[in-house]
Amino acid sequence: MRLLIIFVSFLFLGSSSLAAQQLCGTHPNSEGFDLQTSRLLNNLRAVKDGVPTPRDVSFVPIRFHVGAKNDGSGRISVSKVLDQLCELNEDFAPYDIQFFLAGGNINFINNTTFYENHSATQNSVMAIQKDSRALNVFIVESANTGNNPGDGVTLAYYNIPRDWIVITKTYIRDNDATLSHEIGHFFSLEHTFNGWECGAYNTENVPAPTSPSCNSPATERANGSNCETSGDYICDTPADYNNGLGWSGCDFTGNVLDPQGNAIDPDERNYMSYFLSCPDDEYFFSDQQNAAVQQDLNSFSRNYLRLDPVPTVPVITETTTLNYPVEGETTDAFNYVNFQWDAVPGATAYFLEIDRTATFSISPIRLIVYGNSKVITELTADRNYYWRVRPFNAMSGCAPTSDLTSFRTGIGETSTETLDFVEAFTVSPNPVFGQSELQIRLSSEEAFNGQIEVLDITGRPTGVQRQYDFTTGDQQLNLNIDRLTSGIYLLQITTNEGRLTQKVVVAN
Ligand SMILES: [Zn+2]
Repeated sequence: MRLLIIFVSFLFLGSSSLAAQQLCGTHPNSEGFDLQTSRLLNNLRAVKDGVPTPRDVSFVPIRFHVGAKNDGSGRISVSKVLDQLCELNEDFAPYDIQFFLAGGNINFINNTTFYENHSATQNSVMAIQKDSRALNVFIVESANTGNNPGDGVTLAYYNIPRDWIVITKTYIRDNDATLSHEIGHFFSLEHTFNGWECGAYNTENVPAPTSPSCNSPATERANGSNCETSGDYICDTPADYNNGLGWSGCDFTGNVLDPQGNAIDPDERNYMSYFLSCPDDEYFFSDQQNAAVQQDLNSFSRNYLRLDPVPTVPVITETTTLNYPVEGETTDAFNYVNFQWDAVPGATAYFLEIDRTATFSISPIRLIVYGNSKVITELTADRNYYWRVRPFNAMSGCAPTSDLTSFRTGIGETSTETLDFVEAFTVSPNPVFGQSELQIRLSSEEAFNGQIEVLDITGRPTGVQRQYDFTTGDQQLNLNIDRLTSGIYLLQITTNEGRLTQKVVVAN
């Protein structure tokens, strides 16, 4: 939460219209707020009526739409999104809710208008990209919409009629409760200080008015006697007149009085408050808030979150080991480097980062790889590089990033042209189990002489190689692989004009 605190302090120093500052754009002046209130009241009524809610863990698909300019610049790292997924699952674990990546991945949107001025793309980019079977989170340069009461800066908001969340990219991270707060809104909750978004009441020793700054609902009394019809309509969250915004600390001591002259004692650690200075892991939803969340999650209007099967992948917590390029070594070629790392059990994807600096700040190559190797052809000769890999799957954002490894590119060049005149090229069987020969089938429009060679997964020769004169038309030849142990190999046919490559799995 630290950045948030600094940010808020800055606002206060620089602004005189303090009372109207907004951090969250979901408030009584939002479009569709009546709908939010009626959903909340319906949920609270159902809770009171004893409608049973499941006690098992609820799995919620979440779709992160990560914005960037047209050229892809400005996008936050996938690692930040994984950190956020990890944070959400820590925050919601006490309420038996587990979020998972819808489709097992993250959506990238390269569109400058969306990224810089998302409101203008609600009916186009955002409506098209919205996943109708998931909770949607759009990550943009700034969540400001210009529609706030006052001159506030918006960090994030839940758009009620559109049923999606928009968040400023710098608030997607570990140790930050901003998105958890917005998901509270998504599940029908309102601010603990509902009604006071249009201006906080921090006057000491003078009873507060019976109508809050936004005029409705009524001002909640300190003794809770009107709690069902005032404030956030929730009775186990004490009266709060938006006292958190600007209060630097986690213990509110202002002597703010309710309309009956009794001092209020707002809960500084409630996710739906604006107290932002408490330790991140101390924030919570009250029992009644949680009941409303559970009711909302299991309501008809949230059925769309249950349409797709829950992924069966395990939660992974371990990282991977990097194998090639090796720490401190120089690769032979610079234009064809086959990055390799250990497969992590349960991981379905890996976030690979490569850069000239250890801080990955110059112009990093950042890729999601579905497998534990990736050929990179864009590196520069004779330069130092750093790389690292983070495993993940739909359920897991908490697996750490691998150790950082550095290497140097060589000056050798590998021809990476494919052979245009070869129409078909297959290797069988593949995988190969307990056989000593591979069949290579190839159909070519031209005759050519090529070297057939099997390389290990790090690109090193295995000793299996032969020279062969290929003719025009269809042909088949056998390659003896007796000497290969179990593993993944690359079978290459190299000529002066270029190269053909197939991955071969040997299980002997
Ligand atoms: Zn809010």
